[in-house]
Amino acid sequence: MSERYSRQILFEGIGETGQARLQAARVLIVGCGALGSAQSESLARAGIGHLRLVDRDFVESSNLQRQTMFTERDAEERLPKAIAAANHIREINSAIEVEPEVVDLNYSNIERLLMGCDLVIDGTDNFSTRYLINDACVKHNVTWIYGAAVGAYGVTMTIRPHQAACLRCIFEEAPPAASAPTCDTAGVIMPIINMVAAVQVTEALKILVGRDKDLHGSLMQFDVWRNEWRKINAGAPRPDCLTCALGNYETLSPEPNEGAAVLCGRDAVQILPNKPSKIDFSTLAARLEGAGEVKFNDYLLRFHTGDFELTVFQDARSIIRGTNEVTIARSLYAKYIGT
Ligand SMILES: [Zn+2]
Repeated sequence: MSERYSRQILFEGIGETGQARLQAARVLIVGCGALGSAQSESLARAGIGHLRLVDRDFVESSNLQRQTMFTERDAEERLPKAIAAANHIREINSAIEVEPEVVDLNYSNIERLLMGCDLVIDGTDNFSTRYLINDACVKHNVTWIYGAAVGAYGVTMTIRPHQAACLRCIFEEAPPAASAPTCDTAGVIMPIINMVAAVQVTEALKILVGRDKDLHGSLMQFDVWRNEWRKINAGAPRPDCLTCALGNYETLSPEPNEGAAVLCGRDAVQILPNKPSKIDFSTLAARLEGAGEVKFNDYLLRFHTGDFELTVFQDARSIIRGTNEVTIARSLYAKYIGT
């Protein structure tokens, strides 16, 4: 076993003691897309003893350009990403435990999935899930590592509850629905995925071996196409932060309307935005153009992609036709409308 990890043990930051700690560690990876692929492969190879992988989606051929955990066969079989990733990880490292969870992460399951984990790594594609992770991790005092990438741009921050700023200290609210590009509208190139995941995984290793003093302590941003890189000091927890100062974990309770409803007999699901917002249809249409067929008038925008039709209203509400599954509808909303 120590032969397998010999080069990592030689590295002064880790050593024999560090390696033993990695093998005893349990990490929750939320999202098995591009970031999740890179994170889970690196952590499996590093010998993290237990990986819990959560994802609600299945593998498609458009994933293969950057989601390195998956093969053409996974896409043909439309395997759930968590299952496909777990299968490959077992081949990479049979000595570790891997636990796939094919679920839509939400208030009802996050605390169960977090249980027993030393650390959480963000591989999601939307802000709603990140606030959920932030609330659960601050509440249970678990460190989590935020990461996101779109186009050639990426960002990451390590969030140590009550010791440094949390996600809500930095971004008080999620950006309004449809306000930002997503990988399904603006595209993404693989190098930025590797860069963000590399920093996240390195931070994870530092935390798990107890080298907190080596953490980067910032909101770190990169643009690999424009050759820009910067570190913004994340600062101390804000004394008025709703989450880490006031302990209001609003995403952990069910909302009166959970934001999604299956529309009976219509093969459609309605998704409500997290907060009211007003959508500029021409901007959204321009963004969606490359991803499918899009038309809009003053009242609504209609977007076709594959077997699905998304109708978006000005208040960011959307009716997604072609499915009765809330999970699939939420996933399409996150991909194309965003947040
Ligand atoms: Zn905070």
